[in-house]
Amino acid sequence: MIHQQLSGPLVREASLITDEDIRAINSLPNPPPVPVSARDVFVRRCRLAGDAVDAYFGCFRTSDLPKLLTMIQGAPLLVGHDKRSLGVARFFGGDLIEHQNHRYVAPRFYWLRGHSSADDLRVAIDGGLYSEASISFAYQKPACSVCGEDIRTCAHLPGSKDKEGKTVFYWYDEIAAVLEGSLVYRGAEPGTGFSLGLADFRPSDSENPIYGLPTLRLKRHGKWYTVPLVEDEP
Ligand SMILES: [Zn+2]
Repeated sequence: MIHQQLSGPLVREASLITDEDIRAINSLPNPPPVPVSARDVFVRRCRLAGDAVDAYFGCFRTSDLPKLLTMIQGAPLLVGHDKRSLGVARFFGGDLIEHQNHRYVAPRFYWLRGHSSADDLRVAIDGGLYSEASISFAYQKPACSVCGEDIRTCAHLPGSKDKEGKTVFYWYDEIAAVLEGSLVYRGAEPGTGFSLGLADFRPSDSENPIYGLPTLRLKRHGKWYTVPLVEDEP
């Protein structure tokens, strides 16, 4: 199981709370024990990752996006991934939206006006203090965009160019769960969630086309080849 973060900008225009929002909140898995009304909540939304290649060189299959949106329902939102604090908001509803010729998961989230720090959170979001929502999810297989194998063990490297000059990426396949989400500052989640075991990834290393992997050079029929060393299962 691989854990990964996905994050995206908060969409800060104050949105009207619809009857549909209220219905969605009150019919979440583990709904509020006291049903809420439009007067009780603040609602904002965010745009999480979609079927465009993200900063980790990962990409969701378009057909998996509805499943991802379903898995997000009811997930708690913390601030800055502080697990010692209680969740301040919860995801609900939302839809898939078009953005720059791709589809993105755009869930909504709500928090309670009656909470003592509700206005602090509203001001922090609307004022841009918190500018992104980030969610942890778990999936089984990073499938290589070139060969379809697990990209941790195949010969291709995410972010490098394939023979046709296309950037190599991987699919988030077999998505298993969405865990907590957090409100974060933009850039607070650098692309470190998933290293593919390439601890020594150096894109500028032009000597070695298979960056960072232990490699072996061998000569065959007058040509040199560089091959990655991949440990066999014992
Ligand atoms: Zn591959």
